[in-house]
Amino acid sequence: MKAFLVHQGALYHSECDGSQPHRTAVTDLVRGIWCLFPGQALSLLRNRIYVDCPLSPVCEGMIKVAAKRFAVVNPDEWNSRFTSFTGARNLVSPPTLSTLTHTREPPSGAIKEVLADLKLRSEGFPRVSAALLDPDGRVLLASWSRTASDRTAHAEVNLVEAWFTLHSQSVPAGSSLHVSLRPCAMCAAQILALAGTPSGLRIVFHEEDPGPASKNSCLVPGSDLWKKAGSPDWRSWPADSQEE
Ligand SMILES: [Zn+2]
Repeated sequence: MKAFLVHQGALYHSECDGSQPHRTAVTDLVRGIWCLFPGQALSLLRNRIYVDCPLSPVCEGMIKVAAKRFAVVNPDEWNSRFTSFTGARNLVSPPTLSTLTHTREPPSGAIKEVLADLKLRSEGFPRVSAALLDPDGRVLLASWSRTASDRTAHAEVNLVEAWFTLHSQSVPAGSSLHVSLRPCAMCAAQILALAGTPSGLRIVFHEEDPGPASKNSCLVPGSDLWKKAGSPDWRSWPADSQEE
């Protein structure tokens, strides 16, 4: 997949071979712009993003969260638009581990307290934290949101990207991902990309999101997106959960 946008005569583009399930050309482009050009990101992402194939749920979610418009173009149109900027290409790369807020040593305590403590590290609102637990309940990796300087740096996206950067593989089967707030559509899709198989990961959110962000996500049971994603296992905390 390829993606680009043009801003003030300069072209910003990204290409992704699909070898990492949580990354696409759109996620690399959008997150790369926030990482490399944070001061200009809002203006840059007002421009239409051109892509060479239909958007996945992750791409759609990310465009909703942090960009404005997109268009899918055919190869001829792509070539004519793209090659006119041969001399002014900016390769946009994804965030590095140093910008993905995460820790392998979270505060101790019950998961509720761990998430509450991690939320205090967030930059921007709402404050959100997330933690990945192995089948025995041990925290493997935890993260928090950093949306003050990167609109896409939701806790779950940071967690997914940090996990893959560290391990280059899906989460262990039987893991649980706890999130302090119900995931938005972008994060829900990213979490499932990390899951390997939908049955490999249980998703637990601790607070309902009253806003529109979590509507139309693949974590809305019975929805088309949920069915298409393989009917992932999710529950809210603590009512539907086994744990105390
Ligand atoms: Zn999110």
